[in-house]
Amino acid sequence: MGLNMDLRYLDIPELRLKYYVFGSGGSPRVLITAAIHGDEVTGAYTAYKLINYLKTSERVKGTVTVVPVVNVLGFIARTRFNPIDYVDMNRVFPEGAGSLTTRKIVRFIWEIASSSDYVLDLHCAGLNSYQYVLALYREFSKVREFTDRIPWDTVVESTGTRGQLFIEATHIGIPAAIIETGGGSGYYSVKWGEALFNSVIGTLSNIGVLSSESPASSYLNRKYYGRLVHVKTPVEGFLTSTVEPGAFTRKGDLLGEVGGFPIYSPTTGRVIRVDRDVFLPSEDSVASIAPLEE
Ligand SMILES: [Zn+2]
Repeated sequence: MGLNMDLRYLDIPELRLKYYVFGSGGSPRVLITAAIHGDEVTGAYTAYKLINYLKTSERVKGTVTVVPVVNVLGFIARTRFNPIDYVDMNRVFPEGAGSLTTRKIVRFIWEIASSSDYVLDLHCAGLNSYQYVLALYREFSKVREFTDRIPWDTVVESTGTRGQLFIEATHIGIPAAIIETGGGSGYYSVKWGEALFNSVIGTLSNIGVLSSESPASSYLNRKYYGRLVHVKTPVEGFLTSTVEPGAFTRKGDLLGEVGGFPIYSPTTGRVIRVDRDVFLPSEDSVASIAPLEE
């Protein structure tokens, strides 16, 4: 085993981008990317764990390409953007923008994505956040079929902002999604990294790329939610949050206090992200809620 792996490089003057190709080169072809936002380290942690797993375990049926760190310089600098041009790489697909470095990386990733059957992009939603799948599942039935195969309980409708890898892939007919998990600002979470790993392995099993059983996906109570509702504070102050990420909240429930001012949930659903131990200027975000569909 392990002979079906190929470590390859994209060499450009400022950096060397590593990617790993497993399998025959045939269909189904899956692209898994991480750290397109350089400070979202849990995704890269999971991608490297996946690489080690695929190296030593069963043979891949089809092709899995893993790019554990897309934004190579941002990953080192622990910045969301590419530090040489401040471009958010996940807003400029498929052509790229800014420096030649960003353009080359974006076009290279797009070349692989556009010839794939599935695209899964790993992100972090913050240090105090719950894991969720993000996709355009309402409009695109092939995307919905894909997210039905990702073993996780929370799927959120995307705003569809163009220029994102998964959105552009979706628009050319490729089932694509993001999984957002806990971590960010240069930190990773082992707990969330493991949860993300199980979801990725389960997805590969469920689309027939791995022959192993998917971890308990049939027991999942998967729920589809609407677009995230961002809760802002009308006043500035130190935040004391009283809910945990992943909790269920009802409209009008207390989420926390900013300088003693109570912040209530504007909707019923799952708390995806809630800040803690920070000072918030007025109009800054306290939490994000995934609203339950009517
Ligand atoms: Zn991100």
